[in-house]
Amino acid sequence: MPLADRLRDDAQELAHDLAEIRHTIHQHPEIGLELPVTQRTVLEHLDGLGLEITTGTSLTSVTAVLRGKPGGPTVLLRGDMDALPVTEGTGVEFASKVHGAMHACGHDLHTTMLLGAARLLSAHRDELDGDVVFMFQPGEEGWDGAGAMIAEGVLDASGRRADSAYGIHVSSGLLPRGVFTTRPGTLMAASDGLHVTVRGEGGHGSTPHAAKDPVSVAAQLVGDLQTLVTRRFDVFDPAVVTVGYFHAGTRRNIIPDEAEFDATVRTFSDEARARMADEAVRLCEHVAAGYGMSVDAEYTAEYPVTVNDAAQAAFAAEVSRELFGDDGYEPMESPLTGAEDFSRVLAQVPGCYLFLGACPTEEWATAPSNHSPRAAFDDSVMPRGVLLHSELAIRALRRDRAAAAS
Ligand SMILES: [Zn+2]
Ligand SMILES: [Zn+2]
Repeated sequence: MPLADRLRDDAQELAHDLAEIRHTIHQHPEIGLELPVTQRTVLEHLDGLGLEITTGTSLTSVTAVLRGKPGGPTVLLRGDMDALPVTEGTGVEFASKVHGAMHACGHDLHTTMLLGAARLLSAHRDELDGDVVFMFQPGEEGWDGAGAMIAEGVLDASGRRADSAYGIHVSSGLLPRGVFTTRPGTLMAASDGLHVTVRGEGGHGSTPHAAKDPVSVAAQLVGDLQTLVTRRFDVFDPAVVTVGYFHAGTRRNIIPDEAEFDATVRTFSDEARARMADEAVRLCEHVAAGYGMSVDAEYTAEYPVTVNDAAQAAFAAEVSRELFGDDGYEPMESPLTGAEDFSRVLAQVPGCYLFLGACPTEEWATAPSNHSPRAAFDDSVMPRGVLLHSELAIRALRRDRAAAAS
């Protein structure tokens, strides 16, 4: 039987085990960079596979290296492991046992699929044209776990810089169950923060002229930032600014000294991102100065734009189509406004990030989105994720070894 068919059968045979592992991880969600329970589960399931395993020092990551034929290239596969501060409302029988924490972004499936790929590939190590690095990463949800793992050397874990990198993210909506999608170039937004404190002078609400009212200026800035987006940014290189936190004052007839707000900023190019960092701050400072007030406007860079290498995206699309047919792959038209710290890997290693539809029902278009307390993901998609991870690794190593030889 050809290797591809054997792998497909092997991945399908794992279905039951994968569901069990996923349910265990789902019941014990952990948030942030310290995920000791999840790390233990990962280590247990990697045990006996003959991998070189190291764990993180500044976070509970697991890096596992599988050695194939010596002297070959390296491919990196990544799965993130962290949950969200969400109270589960799905009603599934394997629901979270930790109040206030839930795998609402499907990272329990990511961890499980990567474990499945480690098992499958280690059984076929003789057929690997190089080494595979499995990157089990904590802290994707705003903790920059990828940045921490890169600082600890994950990209060079096999002894050489990874030649290519792949990752898969499941989606509770977005696309039908079992279907993969991705696109060349920009895939997801950069995500940054803007924190603004307007400093006025408190006083009596009946005599605003005798005070400096920071509330009206901060409120104006919320609107001005929307004008900044539409008047200063190209509609074809868009930006999103959303003020999700606004706080000032104690009572209606008291003008407070300060008003503050917090915004999330999404951009899709390095250029727009750099300009936003400059212009949003300048706008806040100058508008406040116009009313005789000062402002602290602090722009914090978080995750960069997620960019797929064009050739790698074409390769991943071709492999997906070949494995799952034309119905199993849909090209993605527009980038998503969400952000990902896998962007940090893709900034240094050419690769591709893909989405996999995992909605349990046929109503994917109206299903609760990732991060919702009701976000639900279907176990049945995991063998597909395992198979794609494995095939991408095998074929990328074959391709990169051939390229190095020619
Ligand atoms: Zn998420
Ligand atoms: Zn996620």
